[in-house]
Amino acid sequence: MTKESSKAPPLYPKTHLLAASGIAALLSLALLVFPSSDVEAKRTTLSLELESPAEQLSQDQDAADAAQATNEPVVTPFAQIENSTEEPQETAQATPAVEEKKSPSHREVIVTKGDTLSTLFEKVGLPATSVHEILASDKQAKQFSQLKHGQKLEFELNPEGQLTNLHSKLSDLESITLTKNDKGYVFNRITSKPSVRSAYVHGVINSSLSQSAARAGLSHSLTMDMASVFGYDVDFAQDIRQGDEFDVIYEQKVVNGKAVGNGPILSARFTNRGKTYTAVRYTNKQGNASYYTADGNSMRKAFIRTPVDFARISSKFSMGRKHPILNKIRAHKGVDYAAPRGTPIKAAGDGKVMLAGRRGGYGNTVIIQHGATYTTLYGHMQGFAKGVKTGGTVKQGQVIGYIGTTGLSTGPHLHYEFQVNGVHVDPLGQKVAMADPISKAERARFLAQSQPLMARMDQEKSTMLASSKR
Ligand SMILES: [Zn+2]
Repeated sequence: MTKESSKAPPLYPKTHLLAASGIAALLSLALLVFPSSDVEAKRTTLSLELESPAEQLSQDQDAADAAQATNEPVVTPFAQIENSTEEPQETAQATPAVEEKKSPSHREVIVTKGDTLSTLFEKVGLPATSVHEILASDKQAKQFSQLKHGQKLEFELNPEGQLTNLHSKLSDLESITLTKNDKGYVFNRITSKPSVRSAYVHGVINSSLSQSAARAGLSHSLTMDMASVFGYDVDFAQDIRQGDEFDVIYEQKVVNGKAVGNGPILSARFTNRGKTYTAVRYTNKQGNASYYTADGNSMRKAFIRTPVDFARISSKFSMGRKHPILNKIRAHKGVDYAAPRGTPIKAAGDGKVMLAGRRGGYGNTVIIQHGATYTTLYGHMQGFAKGVKTGGTVKQGQVIGYIGTTGLSTGPHLHYEFQVNGVHVDPLGQKVAMADPISKAERARFLAQSQPLMARMDQEKSTMLASSKR
């Protein structure tokens, strides 16, 4: 047991939210602007079989051809992952201008400031007094009186000028109707279930990642997701370079041919300074989704759990508790591994050496930054391994130094700390994502899903490159 962690100053500012650091990283990305802001961007869709190979894939070749011809970032429906259950009346909807009449009995009106249901009724020639009758006919009908600016109301009138149907679209996925019957009006809420298709995006970074991604047609949220997926391998705050490129296949939610939202990234590739990383999303039989390399290793770098072989844990991680007698808070934000002097210490993962030198009570210390998210610290070393220097890089498992007792230490041991986004976590605990590869039992199922995604990214990209050379 050593006292170093309670005395040494915090190494890094702490953040409480994983998301906060992700946002910070992207904000700093936005500042990395290269001279040219031109981005080669292409967006197409793809045929994709997921878990239901029996499902018929549909293909909109005309739209795809149009996209090729104009080089416009157009997304066309291609793979129906899920069948939609849209209401037929939803499909008939066009979006004409205000007050345009589709037929003599059809009226449309857009809600503007100060409008009430009564004023809208008057605008379409219905007596304001009929509002009460209509609202009273169904308990839920008053949902029509909760008007929003810009909302469109569509009225169907019979030849006698009576309201037969009132319809309003609340969102791309939801609309409400009132339909006249013998007894009055019946209220209905129609919820459209979006169909899901896959979309492909390719971008080359000529400016910042966020600008390039936006030009390629990748939403901000998906850009964040991509940075998170590759965050174990790529330091998006510092390592992005002009010429880096990415391919992303993601789920897109569609209603009536219109994209209304995005699902998760299904697969992605990111080439950073000539090195390509690949990720595939896989949901295991227990229903847990995670990202893996194409050959089934976890995208989360599997850190070596124990940086010293043949050591015993002499002190565990503790955020500190009040000693009943001393009445002092003692935190031990790391794990101590006792071993004989000179025992090799290994880097827990690939990374940059932020420090290989003395650090107060830690004595001879190595601090390694692993991507943007993780930092490991190794204290009390007797000395550093050859070639391990501040500013250098190390590989997972590489010997970085040797067990000693420098600094505030009572005996030969390694003091090992693990930080996630600047927050100390227990390297032995569950909070650290020591992700495991795809299990043997699920390997075939994983490959059945990942291989078509890989093939599709290759195909989409080569098609795109071929067409751009024409
Ligand atoms: Zn310690």
